[in-house]
Amino acid sequence: MIELKEFTCIECPRGCRLAVRIDSGVATVSGNSCPKGVAWGAQEAVAPMRGLTTTVRIEGSSRRRLPVRASGDMPLSRLLDAMAAIDPVVVRPPVRRGDVVLADLLGLGVDLVATDDLEADAERGAE
Ligand code: SF4
Repeated sequence: MIELKEFTCIECPRGCRLAVRIDSGVATVSGNSCPKGVAWGAQEAVAPMRGLTTTVRIEGSSRRRLPVRASGDMPLSRLLDAMAAIDPVVVRPPVRRGDVVLADLLGLGVDLVATDDLEADAERGAE
């Protein structure tokens, strides 16, 4: 069975319109302006992946939220589950950019890492 899908490539701002033809599990991509579109389109057609950036709650600081991101892409179908797992996470200072705040999110081999430093209030005031 042959399946045809269309996507807008999100690998760069150019946003090429991709057509993906899947024949016996083999994806053929057209409409791409560079090789990245082939890889992205083939992945998107069979198992879409996405990055995740969000914030987590802070306790012990006047700051309320700390920005975090997943260390790698994860299946698009698991993003809502990931957000549910992240919701109860609370961090306390100090936290360094790159620190893991939640390891192996959903067992997907992706960590949730801080994207900013979090100092105790007294240390922040001294800067
Ligand atoms: S195919 Fe290449 S040029 Fe086109 S949007 Fe994707 S990454 Fe950008």
